[in-house]
Amino acid sequence: MALFKYPVPEKLIDENGLRIDKRKYNELRPISFEVGVLPQCDGSAYIEMGGNKIIAGVFGPRKVQPRHLAHPNKCVIRALYRMATFSVEERKSPAPSRREVELSMVIRNSLEPAIFVEYYPKTLIDIVVQVLAADGGTRCASINAASLALADAGIALKDLVSAVAVGKVDGKIVLDLNDIEDKEGEADLPIAVMPQFNQFTLLQFDGNMTKEEFLNAINLGLEGIQIIYQKQQDAIRAKFAYEYSNSGELTEKNEREDE
Ligand code: UDP
Repeated sequence: MALFKYPVPEKLIDENGLRIDKRKYNELRPISFEVGVLPQCDGSAYIEMGGNKIIAGVFGPRKVQPRHLAHPNKCVIRALYRMATFSVEERKSPAPSRREVELSMVIRNSLEPAIFVEYYPKTLIDIVVQVLAADGGTRCASINAASLALADAGIALKDLVSAVAVGKVDGKIVLDLNDIEDKEGEADLPIAVMPQFNQFTLLQFDGNMTKEEFLNAINLGLEGIQIIYQKQQDAIRAKFAYEYSNSGELTEKNEREDE
């Protein structure tokens, strides 16, 4: 049985230097965010990044149950990453996989450095990520969405966290791997950064690169992260501008201006 339903092309980069989805080596996939999409959560966000469709919800800060798990000086942060059974080509078993357990930890560890954990002693913050459609780089897309969900919940953050995977495909360093590039490429390097401080919160590496290629990949990733960071900020502004324009405050102000 073929492993992939789609035919894997012989070359992942053509003679004009274009990738299978016609992107240049330094181009991100189309990316969009929406903040505040789940009414039952304290904060939430939805991301589309290429073919990835991922929703993140945040609960808290709230009481820790059971109480003995509480920390006297800071909040406890939990993350749960799950893929829907229909999110990948081969139906995924609904039972949590080892990969999902690992990615839950990766996402948690990538976000915790951005949170002022000491502001919320004895409390718990839950971050829940659901992958609806997967297309390579779901951990990075999840971090991007969950970071916005934390901000939407009003949790004090040092900075947003922005993430992207860089990799090596047909011997070339490329930005933001898609599913085929992730599976068929020579290296995968997901990074997450607090862009305001240029501080890394995630750096994983799988594959082979020379030292020079590795440094090029990091720089390419940081360029992509600046674009993602801008879009994340725009998404937060869009939500709060909408709320503000629907609040009485603005109506009253407009009325005063109209007088
Ligand atoms: N994937 C899949 N089936 C699975 C898990 C993953 O087809 O059960 C695909 C999915 O598109 C995912 C990609 O493999 O995005 C790469 O997965 P990886 O473990 O490298 O994590 P990611 O790149 O999503 O952060």
